[in-house]
Amino acid sequence: MQSIFSSERIAPLFTRRVFLPAALATILALALGAFALYWAVDRSNTISVERQLKSTERYIRAIVGELAQQQEMVAVWDDTAQEVSKPDLDEVWLDANIGGWLHKTFGQDQVFILNSNNEPIDATIEGQRVAPHAYTAIAPTLQGIIMGLRGDPASGHSQHAEKSKGIPYLTSGKAIHDAHLLRLANRPAAVSAMLIVPDSDRMTLPAGSESVLVSIRFLDGGFLDQVSDRNLIEGLRFSRSPDTSDGEVSVPLDSDENERIGYFLWRPELPGTKILQVVGPSTLLTSALLVAAMAFLVGWLWRTMKALSTAMVEIRASEAQAHHLALHDALTGLPNRTYFEERLNQALSRIKGTNKVAVLLLDLDRFKHVNDTLGHHAGDSVVREFGNRLRAILRPGDTAARFGGDEFAVIQSSVGGDAEIEALCYQILDAVRDPFHVLGGEAFVGVSVGVALAADSSQDGHELLRKADIALYRAKADGRDCFRLFDASMDETVRIRRTIESELRAALKTDDELKVFYQPLVASAGEKIIGVEALVRWQHPTKGLIPPDQFIPIAEETGLISDLGDRVLREACLVSLHWPQLVVAVNLSPKQFRHSGFADRVIGIVREIGVDPGRIHLEVTEGILLDDNDVTQEGVKTLRKAGFKIVLDDFGTGHSGLGYLQRFEVDKIKIDQSFIRDLERDGGGNAIVQAIIDLAHAMKLTVTAEGVETAAQKEFLSEAGCNEFQGFLFSRAVPKEKIDDLLAAARCTHASYTPVLP
Ligand code: C2E
Ligand code: CA
Ligand code: CA
Repeated sequence: MQSIFSSERIAPLFTRRVFLPAALATILALALGAFALYWAVDRSNTISVERQLKSTERYIRAIVGELAQQQEMVAVWDDTAQEVSKPDLDEVWLDANIGGWLHKTFGQDQVFILNSNNEPIDATIEGQRVAPHAYTAIAPTLQGIIMGLRGDPASGHSQHAEKSKGIPYLTSGKAIHDAHLLRLANRPAAVSAMLIVPDSDRMTLPAGSESVLVSIRFLDGGFLDQVSDRNLIEGLRFSRSPDTSDGEVSVPLDSDENERIGYFLWRPELPGTKILQVVGPSTLLTSALLVAAMAFLVGWLWRTMKALSTAMVEIRASEAQAHHLALHDALTGLPNRTYFEERLNQALSRIKGTNKVAVLLLDLDRFKHVNDTLGHHAGDSVVREFGNRLRAILRPGDTAARFGGDEFAVIQSSVGGDAEIEALCYQILDAVRDPFHVLGGEAFVGVSVGVALAADSSQDGHELLRKADIALYRAKADGRDCFRLFDASMDETVRIRRTIESELRAALKTDDELKVFYQPLVASAGEKIIGVEALVRWQHPTKGLIPPDQFIPIAEETGLISDLGDRVLREACLVSLHWPQLVVAVNLSPKQFRHSGFADRVIGIVREIGVDPGRIHLEVTEGILLDDNDVTQEGVKTLRKAGFKIVLDDFGTGHSGLGYLQRFEVDKIKIDQSFIRDLERDGGGNAIVQAIIDLAHAMKLTVTAEGVETAAQKEFLSEAGCNEFQGFLFSRAVPKEKIDDLLAAARCTHASYTPVLP
């Protein structure tokens, strides 16, 4: 399966979600910026051009009015009216006050004075007085204006002549003038004609006798310089054609007759363009930086995303691994209990029709022995190998699991009936028949199987496991190496065990139900009672006397053995205190040793009561001495060091051969009653017991025989060299009140023997 985080997957995702949006945003931002800049530049250029066009146009238009205004200063004046009407003109005066003055003061190009017959009487061109007939060259062009000024209705200009009234730039109301823009001698020109009239009432001129002052200002040449200077326009020129050269703008100049005279052309000032020239490079640089930053960001994001995706893939992988580990057993690779229960619930939910689901719980027999004798690596090999064998047996739909230690479980799905289950169980039993090859040697184990069957999907997985566990318990109780199918009666057994547990718990809180009985230990030499073994009894209020075999295992399973053991030990110590000549033997269960601090507690109890530990015999089983738990081993050592005698109980029933005896830290062995029972029968029982006794003696251990019921057994054991006896032949276990009676009876019976203390 390809992860959604693989880089093949993220590439299109990255392009779609990151790269394209970022690229688009960058392009859009740049485009917007460029457009805004362009727009601002263009706007500011346009505004500037429009302003220059307007002011230039206005300036040109204003020249006509200005001409009239300048003329008014000299044309509406008593002196002029007087001077021009003289038959002999005062040239000096005229030059100083009219032609020369208007040129000098206002830069008028040509000034003419016409008499009442419209003949030129004075002419000034470029400030130089010239012959009046210079006027004749332009007279035809101006004739209409002059006629109009004089009020000739035949002239098209008769309407133009105006009094200064209402014309803003004329100050006196007496000026009569007409002004025009026109082409004069092929040049654009502003022309103004004004009647020369007195300004005061002291002098009057008969109508029609007025002279005319004509002023001409050419709009090219010097005028252009003036406009350029005033309006700060560079490169202003006049042209007949509107053809602009690069970047020029033009203002058309029309005559008053609407004849196109020509065009003013200039290269306008473009502030926007100037700004662009200034900010352009930095803007470009900024844009380049923006693109670079964006590219870097996108690149970084891509690398980060890729790194992230790699990390995610790794996390996924380790998650998957962790998931597998969480659901599987490391040693065998089989599903663990958690996974098994999950699979079981699935299998149960799929039950249909006659198909059933069986759960098998498996427990290897003698596995602990393999661990103890061959070591843990050997134990691991057996577990691993068994897992493989189990896997090989199962059908594809079935599940095998390891619950831990030597516990396994199987789900057999879609089973039709018991026959199929039994077939599988036999296969499993067969699978362990062959030896397991470990560390160059061979190990033999068995397997006990408990089976529970679910016939419909209403079954609960835990309930099924519980039943299989009960069946397994039964299989073990029935001698192991077999299988048992759960049935309701087994549940009854379990129920009884539960009852016993709760009643035992209650009994431990009272004084009168749990009693300790004492069975004498008799020395073979002299048959004198040298000690007693403390054996617990339960005087149940309704069920009568319950033997320890029925409640000790339950006490061990439930942990109640700790309290029970302490109670027996205390009682035994009190007995020892009361009969100091007797040793008192106390049974200890493996479960008690598993508690850290157990040894110290035992020592504490003995000290508290004030008994010599040397007179307390602690009976332990081979299991305790072989327990690989350090706490147990330390406990045994500590107790022995404290002075207690350690007795190996039920000797011969364990798995370790006689040879192992030397490894144990014990002072005495108790030959199990099964060997004593077999004495005198066929099968070499005598020889075995003899061998045990000899071996023990070789190791300087005392030997006790328990379960001595007959005189013959006693005789044989005595002959064989057994040191002590215990059994119904001498006495059953009795309450402590009866100990004195036992001692007295023994003295009577064997009065002839000399009592000897061991
Ligand atoms: P055990 O330690 O092997 O105790 C000897 C058992 O053999 C006792 O059974 C005793 O009554 C019985 N017995 C003695 N002589 C004869 C005989 O001649 N013939 C026969 N057939 N049996 C004989 P009991 O008292 O029922 O105890 C059974 C087991 O319960 C004990 O076996 C011991 O393992 C355990 N037990 C008893 N009391 C305690 C206790 O206080 N603590 C612990 N942890 N275990 C105890
Ligand atoms: Ca015992
Ligand atoms: Ca025993």
